[in-house]
Amino acid sequence: MAEVESFTLDHNIVIAPYVRLIAKEVGPKGDIITNFDVRLTQPNETAIETSGMHTFEHIFADLMRNQLDGIIDISPFGCRTGFHLIAWGEPTATEVAKVLKKTLEEIVKDSYTIDKVQGIAKIACGNYKDHSLHSAKEWSKIILEKGISDDAFVRNVV
Ligand SMILES: [Zn+2]
Repeated sequence: MAEVESFTLDHNIVIAPYVRLIAKEVGPKGDIITNFDVRLTQPNETAIETSGMHTFEHIFADLMRNQLDGIIDISPFGCRTGFHLIAWGEPTATEVAKVLKKTLEEIVKDSYTIDKVQGIAKIACGNYKDHSLHSAKEWSKIILEKGISDDAFVRNVV
C-alpha cells in the first residue's frame, strides 16, 4: 500500500486557513520539487462550493503564478477545502501564504470582475458553466478575516 502523507495528517487538529509544506522531493538529477497543502476552510466543517473552487482554480493559476516563481500546478482537493500547490525549488510556507493573501486581496476588489478570470470560455475549460466569482469573492473575504497561518497547528498569521 502506498504511504500517502496527506492521509496520515490528523485533520481533526489542523486550524485553517493555513499553508503547510507537505513534502520536498528530490529528483534523480537533483531537482527539488515542493508540495504544499493550501487549506482554505476547516476540514469536515465547511467546504467551498464546486463552482467557487473551480473559479479559484482558474484565478490561482494566473495570479499566484505571477507572484511566485516555479509554480508547476495548483489543483483542488476533492474534499473542496483547499488546494495542492506544487513548485520547483524550495519556496517556504510563509512565502506561499503571503502570495495567497495578496491573491485573495486582489479577488475581493470591486475592480476584479469576471472578465479578469482567464480560461472560462467553453473552448478553454472542461465545465465552463460551473463557475462562481461571487463564491470565490465571498470565501476570499472569510479567509482574509480569519487570516492565513504559515503553520497548520498553531496560528501564525502572515
Ligand atoms: Zn475550468
